[in-house]
Amino acid sequence: MKSCDTLLRGTVISMDANRTAYLDGYVAVDGGRIVGVGSASECEFEGKETAGGDGHIVIPGLVNVHGHLVQGCIRGMADGTTFEERLFGFYYPMTGACDEERSYISAMPPILDLVRRGVTTTADDHFTHIHKRSIDGVLKAVRDSGMRCRMARLILSDPDNAPDGFREDLDVGLAETERVKAEWENDFTTVTASTIGITYCTPDEFKEIWQWTMDNDRQFDVHAPSVLDTRYLKERRGWEGGSFEWMDHEGILGPNVIAAHAQTLQPGEADLISQCGAHIALVPDMEQVLGLVEFDSRKFLDAGVTCGIGLDGPVVAYGHDLWTALRAFLIAQRLGDQHRKQMSDSDEQWTGYEMLFGSAELALELATIGGAKALNMDDKIGSLEVGKDADIVLIDRRGETQLSPPAALIPNLIYGNGPSPDAVARVMVRGKTLVENGEHVSLDRHDAVRKSDALQETLLDEVDARKFVRMRSPYTWVDG
Ligand SMILES: [Zn+2]
Repeated sequence: MKSCDTLLRGTVISMDANRTAYLDGYVAVDGGRIVGVGSASECEFEGKETAGGDGHIVIPGLVNVHGHLVQGCIRGMADGTTFEERLFGFYYPMTGACDEERSYISAMPPILDLVRRGVTTTADDHFTHIHKRSIDGVLKAVRDSGMRCRMARLILSDPDNAPDGFREDLDVGLAETERVKAEWENDFTTVTASTIGITYCTPDEFKEIWQWTMDNDRQFDVHAPSVLDTRYLKERRGWEGGSFEWMDHEGILGPNVIAAHAQTLQPGEADLISQCGAHIALVPDMEQVLGLVEFDSRKFLDAGVTCGIGLDGPVVAYGHDLWTALRAFLIAQRLGDQHRKQMSDSDEQWTGYEMLFGSAELALELATIGGAKALNMDDKIGSLEVGKDADIVLIDRRGETQLSPPAALIPNLIYGNGPSPDAVARVMVRGKTLVENGEHVSLDRHDAVRKSDALQETLLDEVDARKFVRMRSPYTWVDG
């Protein structure tokens, strides 16, 4: 027998190239790395510590490929507001008023949502730099949680898209990115430069930011098409084509680009993305919440585009639960498919032989190895394979009525919105335990809630955003 630090046992969903799943399997962890995976009957490891066993499920840590954690302080406030009302009314003002300490407090509840539900890696796009160290507050909160983070520092300069104070000179933005990179990069955190979308700075600046990512071997993370692209691309730049076509025309669209949303494309743009090797951060839950029935991931997946699944910011992503987004990925696609069918001239009738798009297994794949590939981290994480880092989620399904009986284990996990929080027996990043039985090992969630509640109260008055609270609510709210 070989000795290892931790031996995990249960049904092991490995996400290796063959998608091997061991109904009675093991994962051996030593020195933070995976040193053995296989059937329990062939296990040659003895753990200094053992966990799991009958009734447990072992999966790779989940990967969230899109977010804006600083939005914790405006969580859910999108409901009942228009895009412009929220962007300029409270989104920019409240997040912009967050200095380092406030950003830490604001980001902590969504971070705890993520990690307590099994997310071990998150991508983040930060663009509220009135306080230059706001981004440091978010990074500090992620560090304290133990999660990995691919942080993008977004530079904004367009006067119509970004209010006073949010705009930066390119030199200043890139110098700050260098500072953040030098201060924060380590084995668990990487920092890159980007911008929100192609109309948030000048074309030359856009290209310079992208060039910085090429020179630094980092991803270029962009919302495309972003909400204002349609308005400004044509109006200002005389560009009739799509956002991806524009990027390709400028020589930018390539394998280091990861585009968030990527919906409502021009015909042929999905193939263009595929040919250029760009990655896509699908954000199905947010699209669904906003009623965007045109959601379509199929065109990417069929063309072999590398896709992951992300949540977006808490203002529209509510509880930061990636499991909900996995269910949303399937539902949004199926509603989209039905919508497209109804909008076409086809008079196809339901025959009972139709296969719906996708499967729960596909969703879980996108949340693990897919997300790891989308963030160019699949050499380290995304699957349970010997040599990779031990980023692992252990689920105890012995009390999980919604996961019983187990024949359809993965469908029940995905359509049932994942395990209950306290059934998340353990979450590990590189072999270090971050969460045990649903609770973070060092962060106090009651304290996080108290501080975040107080921060929101302060911000609502400070930036005069209280008018957006319960805006258009038909309820009678009594103060006191
Ligand atoms: Zn976003």
